[in-house]
Amino acid sequence: MAHIIYLYNEIPEADLDIKRALRYLADHCRFIEIELRRGFIAHFFSNELIGKLADCWNNELSAERGFNYNRAERLDYENLAHLKPGGISPQIIYNGWQLLKLLQAQIPRGEASPDKLHLILTPRLLVTMDEGEPRRQHARTIIMGQPSIISASGLVEAPARSAEYYLLERAYQMLGQDIPEAELEERFAGKFLTYHDPRLTEVMLGYIMQAIAYSFMGEGFCDDPHCRLFNAHLQAEMLTAQLEAPEFCEKHRGLFNPGGQKTTLQQHAIDNPG
Ligand SMILES: [Zn+2]
Repeated sequence: MAHIIYLYNEIPEADLDIKRALRYLADHCRFIEIELRRGFIAHFFSNELIGKLADCWNNELSAERGFNYNRAERLDYENLAHLKPGGISPQIIYNGWQLLKLLQAQIPRGEASPDKLHLILTPRLLVTMDEGEPRRQHARTIIMGQPSIISASGLVEAPARSAEYYLLERAYQMLGQDIPEAELEERFAGKFLTYHDPRLTEVMLGYIMQAIAYSFMGEGFCDDPHCRLFNAHLQAEMLTAQLEAPEFCEKHRGLFNPGGQKTTLQQHAIDNPG
C-alpha cells in the first residue's frame, strides 16, 4: 500500500516554490503519494480550533516582539491569518508542543494511520522548552510527530548564526542600534538564511525529507554533516547540509527509492540556474 503525505502549505508562493517541492518529492520518493492541501487551519477550520489556536500563543514572547494582544485581538488575527497566510507574522510566537497537540486532535481517525503523514509547512514561529533548561524557550525548525510541522521562520531564527555576528550585534545593541543593512550585507551576505531568502525552498526540501525519514522509516537525524538528514544547530551547518552536494550520505542515499534511480543533482542545476 502506498504511503500518503497530506501536505499543508501556508507559505506564500513568493517565498516557497511549492511546485518545485512537489516535483522533488515525486522524483525522490516514488512510493509516496502526495495530496497538496491548503493550510492546516484553513483545511480543518472551526471556530473552536481558532479559539484554541489563539490560546497557543506564547504571549510573553509575542509581546516582546510587538504583539501584546488581548484574547479578542488574538482571535481577530487568527480568523484572518488562515485565510490570508501572506499576513502571518513571524513575530507571533506559538508554544510548539501545545500547538502540536491541538493540530493532532483535528486529524480524523481515517487519516491517522502510520502509512499517512500530515506535513505542515508554515511561516509561523514555534518555540519549545528544552528538558535540561527549564524556562529557556528555543525556536524550532521542525517538530516531528503527527502532524509534523516545518517552520520557515524557524529555519531563519532557530539555527545559530556565527559568533562574529553575535559579537557585532551586541556591540551595536550597546549603542541602542541594529547592525546597519550595508554592514550586514558586506560581512554576512549569504552566510545565514534570512526572511524571503531565495534559498528557502531548497533548504526546506531537506526538512521535508527529515520528516519523511522519521515518520515512514523510523530514521532519526544523521551524523554526517553533508547529509540532508543532519540535525544542524548552526546556520552554516544547515546551509552546508541542504545546499551542497552530495544530497545524502551513503547510508541514506537509497533510503527513499529503494532499488530505484539515484537522486540526480543535475536536476537541481536545471531547476535552479545559478
Ligand atoms: Zn545521512
